[in-house]
Amino acid sequence: MSWFIKRVLFCALWLVASAQAAFITSNEAELDAIYSQANFGERPIDIRIGSATELVFPELLDISSDAEISQIFSQHVGPANVVNFYFVDSISACGGQISSSIVGCGEYFGNDFVVESSYAAGPYGGELLAHELGHNLGLPHLSGAYLMNPFLNKQTLITPAEVTRIFNSPLVQSLNDYYWIDINPVLIVAEASQVSEPVTVGLFMLALVMLAWRHHRQVAASTTIIVS
Ligand SMILES: [Zn+2]
Repeated sequence: MSWFIKRVLFCALWLVASAQAAFITSNEAELDAIYSQANFGERPIDIRIGSATELVFPELLDISSDAEISQIFSQHVGPANVVNFYFVDSISACGGQISSSIVGCGEYFGNDFVVESSYAAGPYGGELLAHELGHNLGLPHLSGAYLMNPFLNKQTLITPAEVTRIFNSPLVQSLNDYYWIDINPVLIVAEASQVSEPVTVGLFMLALVMLAWRHHRQVAASTTIIVS
């Protein structure tokens, strides 16, 4: 087998593995670190990731309108003081914005946010989830080297003023000197979970299409990654 064929085959097989439906990456340790950084002082917040729920909504795996965002958030699982983070394949709409560079969308004051699975699993994953959680907690965007910058920037700083706002949120629970936020992940799937099927020629062809598509997305994402 020529080098080129091997390379294409490897990429295709990798993409078959990654081109399945949304998946959950909770980033709990990084979320804990961000919400217990120095500005939290003696009141670090423990981010507790609970059990996952799977919802079958094939039409919501690729979100392209605010109506679909509303539809997904209306599925809220559990009590109002438990945040849901939803995992989908792609998001291109949020709060009136339309852009293929959008990778997450969170209610500004609320208890629901949605992210793209592939970004949650990547190097910006913890920052992305913490940013959207920040919106749920009542934090607006803030330009500069901060967590709430509307673009992923590898910065996770939460200011003292923002910490004050966070502790006004009903999502922050406390007992004695222990503070926590409960989050339950919700996985959007095309059909109920089952044992994975063998790789078919059809999937192989899909992978080749995905190869081109992913390349396009990476180019777009490298310029601006919007975390609305
Ligand atoms: Zn945002």
